[in-house]
Amino acid sequence: MDNDIYLTNNLNNRKEKFTPINKAKIGMYVCGPTVYDNPHIGNARPLVIFDILFKVLKSKYGNNSVNYVRNITDIDDKIIKSSKEKNIPISELTSNIIKGFDDDCNYLNLDGPSQQPKATDHIDLMIEMISSLIAKGFAYEKNDHVYFEVNKFEDYGKLSNKKLEDLIAGSRVEVSENKKNVEDFVLWKPSSNDEPFWGSPWGKGRPGWHLECSTMSKKYLGNIFDIHGGGIDLLFPHHENEIAQSRCANNTKSFANYWIHNAFITISNEKMSKSTGNILKIKDFKENIDGQVLKLALMSAHYKQPLDWNEKLLKDCLNTIEKWYEVYVSVDKRIVLNDEILSPLYDDLNTPGYIANLHQLYEKALKGNNNDKNLFVLACNFIGILNKTKEEWLSIKKKKLLISDADILKKIELRNNAREVKDYKEADIIRNELLDKGVLIEDKDGKTIWKLK
Ligand SMILES: [Zn+2]
Repeated sequence: MDNDIYLTNNLNNRKEKFTPINKAKIGMYVCGPTVYDNPHIGNARPLVIFDILFKVLKSKYGNNSVNYVRNITDIDDKIIKSSKEKNIPISELTSNIIKGFDDDCNYLNLDGPSQQPKATDHIDLMIEMISSLIAKGFAYEKNDHVYFEVNKFEDYGKLSNKKLEDLIAGSRVEVSENKKNVEDFVLWKPSSNDEPFWGSPWGKGRPGWHLECSTMSKKYLGNIFDIHGGGIDLLFPHHENEIAQSRCANNTKSFANYWIHNAFITISNEKMSKSTGNILKIKDFKENIDGQVLKLALMSAHYKQPLDWNEKLLKDCLNTIEKWYEVYVSVDKRIVLNDEILSPLYDDLNTPGYIANLHQLYEKALKGNNNDKNLFVLACNFIGILNKTKEEWLSIKKKKLLISDADILKKIELRNNAREVKDYKEADIIRNELLDKGVLIEDKDGKTIWKLK
């Protein structure tokens, strides 16, 4: 095996060998959250996936060689709407949500990003880029709005494989009498009196969403950089528009060299949506489940495949982590992970393949010596698992509601022992303890069986 990194590049939909522009200064930009509401489990997937990519790049090129930028969108129509609905100032709403988001990232034990710029700190650069696009003939002003003229950029649609005709026929574009063509998208728009605004050559207003990633990636990573990532829902129009703006404003033949997108999460095989009420927020897991269980679940499918989220998945991951802690040792940092262990991750971030390797390393550690245990724990640590000591894990576990199969069986055994010596009071206490954790037990034909409530 070579120890090159391969990634599926959406620019041509092929798995390609990753070749950085400058291996001492690798640039990675990932579209971050729009801070109008707490992030849900679907938002957690790119956080975890691109964090794994960050770790893989660091392991190959060195800890200080990767600049991972993930923006925060703190001005957007959704934010304005949410602040009106909640009747709190925008600044209060966004700072609360950012704080919650940072807590979620800590809970998921992420390494990155290296930088987390906010859109509202870069409005001057956005105005500069719009002015440059107008000067070069790629954008125009109409009634205090500025639009990007899509048909002026001949490569439009190449990333998402969309033709301009399909785009217009599909009417996935906002209709406005200010536009020259329906497919044009907004770079600047006026704000009404009760909306936030910034002064500009086109009057008081605010930038369009797509523009911020073009300006912030330019500022922190340059006109052309290595990797741009995000959820698959951003492929079109957001990323297509970023490419158009950046390449036209910067006079370049390319923008990001590798475009990586993660697939959706479904909830018990249904699409997550507000209307079905099945939106699971990251923060709502904190009380019941340790972050590393959630993280293992998020890595259980390959990033290009949809991931179905359900109770069984979480339970299986909890059981796995529980089992893995049996061979926990505090690691000797002198041991290094070899390329063979990391190879599934180098091969297009194959996290299920890596987890399969971990299962094998666990089996070896179970029968083997301290070195085998060390290697296993180190390999878990690489993806942010088993990062807590066994004592920490045991004390967290007590407070959490989700209980592993092994613990349920232990409790049932204790209860049966109590019943044998006719200590029914103790037996009832154990039954109620299990009930509190959502486990129902039933005595049938001399056996005790259990199921989840
Ligand atoms: Zn973006």
